[in-house]
Amino acid sequence: MIPYSTQLIEEDDIAAVVEILQSSHLTQGSKVQEFEEAIAHYVGAKYCVTFNSATSALLGAYAVSGISENDEIITTPISFVATSNMAIALGAKPIFCDIKMDGNIDETLIEALITPHTKAIVPVDFAGKPVAIKAIKEIVNKHDLVVIDDASHALGSGINHKKIGSHADMTIFSFHAIKPITTGEGGAVVTDNEEYANALRLFRSHGIVKKQLWNSDMVSLGHNFRMTEFAAALGLSQLHKLDRFISTRDAIANYYDERFKNHKLFSTIYIDEQEQSARHLYPLLLNPQLHCVKEEIFTELQEKGLGVQVHYKPIYQNSFYKQRYGEQRLNTAETFYKSEISIPCHQKMTLDDAKSVADIVLEVIKQYAYRGCTF
Ligand SMILES: *Cc1c(COP(=O)(O)O)cnc(C)c1O
Repeated sequence: MIPYSTQLIEEDDIAAVVEILQSSHLTQGSKVQEFEEAIAHYVGAKYCVTFNSATSALLGAYAVSGISENDEIITTPISFVATSNMAIALGAKPIFCDIKMDGNIDETLIEALITPHTKAIVPVDFAGKPVAIKAIKEIVNKHDLVVIDDASHALGSGINHKKIGSHADMTIFSFHAIKPITTGEGGAVVTDNEEYANALRLFRSHGIVKKQLWNSDMVSLGHNFRMTEFAAALGLSQLHKLDRFISTRDAIANYYDERFKNHKLFSTIYIDEQEQSARHLYPLLLNPQLHCVKEEIFTELQEKGLGVQVHYKPIYQNSFYKQRYGEQRLNTAETFYKSEISIPCHQKMTLDDAKSVADIVLEVIKQYAYRGCTF
């Protein structure tokens, strides 16, 4: 089975981790800081604060921007549940905005959702494709909000070669095993705002500041959301390979684009000339006449060895959300969910693998040309 995404761990990654395991500090040493400085430098942000996951990083970013009871965030339903869950964890309510057929929030629909309770706009760079950050920032500035970009898919993505992480008030990255680079589990917030960075460091580590000798002081309520030293060593080693990983994924994605161009039964997501995508996912979008046979197509792709997945069921369709907020339906999000299948695209694949994947996809989908849905 070729998974839709997977990690690539090499000998030097392993050596970097072993070196830390044999050292004096497994936690709270200097590797975490070294990794943070390298991430900040790579994306072009002033500060980076790592966490033990992107989920805790999201919670930290929401907390330090003052999101609390009765506040609202405007976000996308086409994401992993953590994006909105962490706002709910602080007592806030996620307001879901519809998307475009590239999987990203529709920036033209955001402003109508703003209320006196709105605190933040939280887009997700779906599959690695940058959101329309310029338009979103104009809305944010006009209404005195913050933009927190969940860029869990998008470390290495950019617009006109200006990296994601240098645009929003705060940007979140994930280092989960199958994200663009990995620390096993891990995440980070990058920002140019020193106050946010200081507050995030307190939030991640018990709210404690060190004073003289044994004296320390707990000044705010915090957690233990710290990254370990060996995770940071793995992350640092992986970061050096990120551009190579992206160019491998990009070559595979470009190959697919070519093979699937102008297909009658499905489309793919176009990356604009001035955009760079980390290519975390390669989504296929089935045309409406195949929506009723998506389960069959998905199953057949799996049986032929492709570890396909669907990204994502709209968050509001989960039972927790239905019980809390009632039934919701956003048209494009619904259509996107019915259309989307992510096929294998990762740095462990060769172009020969990509050719086999494309052959299987075309062969399987061809059979449904005359077995589609009736309207
Ligand atoms: C993976 C992911 C997360 C959660 O990341 P973890 O590091 O697993 O906590 C959040 N948002 C999006 C969009 C993701 O893809």
